[in-house]
Amino acid sequence: MSLLAVENLSARHGLLQAVSGVSFTAAEGEILALVGANGAGKTTLLRTIAGSHRAAGGRISFEGADLGTMRAHRRVQLGIALVPEGRRLFGAMTVEENLKVAGANGRRGRWTIETVLDAFALLKPLLRRRCGELSGGQQQATAIGRALMTNPRVLLLDEVSLGLSPVAVRTVYDSLQTVIAQGDTTIVLVEQDLSRALRIATRVACMLEGRIVLEGKAADLTRERITEAYFGLRRGEGGMRA
Ligand code: ATP
Repeated sequence: MSLLAVENLSARHGLLQAVSGVSFTAAEGEILALVGANGAGKTTLLRTIAGSHRAAGGRISFEGADLGTMRAHRRVQLGIALVPEGRRLFGAMTVEENLKVAGANGRRGRWTIETVLDAFALLKPLLRRRCGELSGGQQQATAIGRALMTNPRVLLLDEVSLGLSPVAVRTVYDSLQTVIAQGDTTIVLVEQDLSRALRIATRVACMLEGRIVLEGKAADLTRERITEAYFGLRRGEGGMRA
């Protein structure tokens, strides 16, 4: 059975249909990269899975159980954690306080302040610093650490590299590799950098105008095929739309 199953999901912003009939499954330890142009619906999809945005239709199930209208904090307790676009840390609180607050609401498990600092070593000297004073990369590491503190089984990552320097992106992804290496965390990540998405993911899904228009194993998909789906260039191939 898949750990996470999304079936015919739709979500709106007012009259705008941001997610339309999206279906996919993710097994334990799978890394699914969601790619697609700005406005394709990736953020709305992640937020809907996390319970931060209300679904307009369809079903999200976790270990076979329908999540229905379950609130976001209850989903965190089940093991679904979102690292939101823009990070949304408590800027006036320290790194340590941000991590502790998250840990108090989550599940128990391997991730504690110590193990988060092992994975994200750059945070070690920063524990007492206010998040608002940190660089983008340091904030992103804190945001991922905060999600890990809830001991998620499904980690939803929304554009972790957005606005970061190339060095900071590499540092964040190196740390993520240590999370992935544990093998039991399912990750759904939105990533604009296609090469990076293809390197890290086991599967890739491309969204266009609210729908998944191409999905497959990362090893089976070429950059060209994904780029065509990204821009909606071809008709009638593998479920793609024009
Ligand atoms: P990006 O890469 O720019 O974040 P995305 O693929 O994540 O894009 P969404 O942010 O989910 O896409 O946006 C999907 C659609 O919903 C877009 O047309 C966007 O303009 C619209 N939208 C997103 N957030 C809101 C909002 N709060 N109110 C109204 N419309 C919104």
